[in-house]
Amino acid sequence: MITIALSKGRIFEETLPLLAAAGITPAEDPEASRKLIIGTNRDDVRLIIVRASDVPTYVEYGAADLGVAGRDVLIEHGGAGLYQPLDLEIAKCRLMVATRNGFDYDGAVRQGARLKIATKYVQQAREHFAAKGVHVDVIKLYGSMELAPLVGLADAIVDLVSTGGTLKANDLVAVEHIRDISSRLVVNQAALKLKEERIQPMLDAFAGAIGSGA
Ligand code: ATP
Ligand code: MG
Repeated sequence: MITIALSKGRIFEETLPLLAAAGITPAEDPEASRKLIIGTNRDDVRLIIVRASDVPTYVEYGAADLGVAGRDVLIEHGGAGLYQPLDLEIAKCRLMVATRNGFDYDGAVRQGARLKIATKYVQQAREHFAAKGVHVDVIKLYGSMELAPLVGLADAIVDLVSTGGTLKANDLVAVEHIRDISSRLVVNQAALKLKEERIQPMLDAFAGAIGSGA
């Protein structure tokens, strides 16, 4: 059996054309069925539906052979023991610093102010501000980061931005770009060795389909 770990939502949707290129069709839609283990048209391939940030963990421990995870999640996880052969070029967005519209971010940085940063991306936020020589208190959140500057929890957030619609709806502005994000294929290295004759053709099919579907 080959087990592929995916998260619901955009990663699942945008991975479908890549799976199709490898001849894999899910037997049901995880949004509709609520099942966490989903069969496919192939007897030897199944999908497991996990939280986006848990994908690297399932693959690292070999509970899944393959997975699809955002670069944001992979950097935060550390990527230990994971083979990352392909940038799938899906779920593209940018990791940015954002503040309330009107907050003088550049001024605060120039004056050496200590900034409160709310984020789910603690590691990447620390690294970013350390590299700039800015002192920060990082406040870990699990979601709805946009709220933090509005209610005085933080001066700025570090979050993913694609269209900027959510920032705009909450009167926030992006002030700094940290990195471009897309999702990657992650592979358990032991699984690749043991099941190479089945996994390698999948990797080749995914590679051939990048940029064509989503
Ligand atoms: P959960 O909703 O379970 O807390 P999550 O919010 O991290 O997890 P998603 O919002 O589905 O899950 O995001 C999954 C992945 O998709 C992220 O890790 C990131 O790589 C990518 N992503 C997140 N937001 C966007 C976006 N606005 N545009 C494009 N890709 C995004
Ligand atoms: Mg989400």
